[in-house]
Amino acid sequence: MTFRVLCGQLMHETNTFSVQPADIPAFEKLFCYRGADEIVSEMAGTNSETAGFIAAAEAHGWELIHTVAAFANPCGKVTDDAFEELGGLIFDALDANRDVDGVLLALHGAMVTETYEDAETEILKRVRAIIGDDIPIAVTFDLHANVGPDVADLANIVCSYKTYPHIDMAERGRQAGDLLQRAMAGEIRPKTFLARRPLFEGADGGRTDAGPMIDLQAKARGFEAEAGVLNTSINAGFHHSDIFDVGPTVLVTGDGDDPRYQAMAEELMDDIWARRDEVTNVYLSPGEAADIARQHNYNGKPLVIADYADNPGAGAYGDATNLLKSMLDAGLRDACFGAVRDSEAAAALVEAGEGATVTLDVGGKVDPNFGGPPLALTGTVVHAGDGTYVCDGPMWAGMTKHFGPSAVLRVGGVDVLVVSNLMQITDLQQFLSNGIDPREKRTVGLKSMQHFRAAYEPMADKVIVCDSGALASPDSSRLTFKNIRRPLYPFDAIEA
Ligand SMILES: [Zn+2]
Repeated sequence: MTFRVLCGQLMHETNTFSVQPADIPAFEKLFCYRGADEIVSEMAGTNSETAGFIAAAEAHGWELIHTVAAFANPCGKVTDDAFEELGGLIFDALDANRDVDGVLLALHGAMVTETYEDAETEILKRVRAIIGDDIPIAVTFDLHANVGPDVADLANIVCSYKTYPHIDMAERGRQAGDLLQRAMAGEIRPKTFLARRPLFEGADGGRTDAGPMIDLQAKARGFEAEAGVLNTSINAGFHHSDIFDVGPTVLVTGDGDDPRYQAMAEELMDDIWARRDEVTNVYLSPGEAADIARQHNYNGKPLVIADYADNPGAGAYGDATNLLKSMLDAGLRDACFGAVRDSEAAAALVEAGEGATVTLDVGGKVDPNFGGPPLALTGTVVHAGDGTYVCDGPMWAGMTKHFGPSAVLRVGGVDVLVVSNLMQITDLQQFLSNGIDPREKRTVGLKSMQHFRAAYEPMADKVIVCDSGALASPDSSRLTFKNIRRPLYPFDAIEA
């Protein structure tokens, strides 16, 4: 028989400390596709959850009802208007198709709206209210999901990313779809179990190329080889979020109701708790990082400096100047830096045009308390463009993205990429499409915590990580948390 499946992708990772709301224009700057035609033409074949849903539908011969595929770059709370408008595309379509056989949702986990601290639980509650308890729901989450305890009861199947840098979006979408197919066909009765501890952050921020996640995932794969275990999701959580349900979780999806599944989730959570203080990164000051770059012995491959704290992928403003200032002060040659999100400066540089010599203030404008004040720069515009590029991966391969009006200002030996839209550096095309070949530079300064590694580590001689003091600093002590549950480690001393 032909199953009818409704799908939707509605994602945001909300930094509740950011003053910049996620409104409809913020979604449209990253991606916001509505209806089947737009969604299929933009998403099919890309490395995205929706592409995985489409592939599952083709493999299993479903009739797939598309609703929305939208993702705003991490920033402040999602406005009520945006949540109701974009969520409404899912809820209204479901209301008109109450006889669907299954529901597939790509969510982030960690979406906070003006009204709802845990927007994913709200979405799932509304979906359940429409379709009742018997129709299976499969959900994908980001590995940095904050997951409320009700999610395990609301969703039958949960599949979180297993990679950070995230490169398995399409794979997880397909996996969720394949499990949903088996549930709809009556082969399995999937149920999900959740474990957590009084823990604010853990699992080394979720990085899967080093540290405790390597052992955690090996154990998870062992569990998945056991009878009945359909999937194991290890979520590191997202801690730039002042909400009750912040922190790491483990979710095990099993066939039927078996206490083994809860025990597996608890065992993995015990491991996360035991290794809660392990951090792989060494965080350098901007001055230390620039000093290392100045003394670095160039061997044909660049030194990459990641500004961890100003990662737009964690809701930082992307306009911190402290690292750029240190790179300029150090007199680095053959260097590039990006992307500074400053739409005012980008517009002025594009207006001045290639070849112009310009003096202007760049960056530091949203909140100079986090990452440094505006820098007065004088340089030559060596590139100006519309900021559109197609990712060539591995992350989001095939997807078209938009920096908006963008320009490169050459200041001394540093090519500074100035853009209009908030986005972290994940892809070589972000520099290449703006006339900079980062592979040819001696030093590459970029704003990203970990995602950059997928594309940039293979071409780098060495990667170092810097804390510029911007909003997503690994040092959370400058932020005031009022809504987190207590007790919570490390805010409170907790015995194991
Ligand atoms: Zn993530």
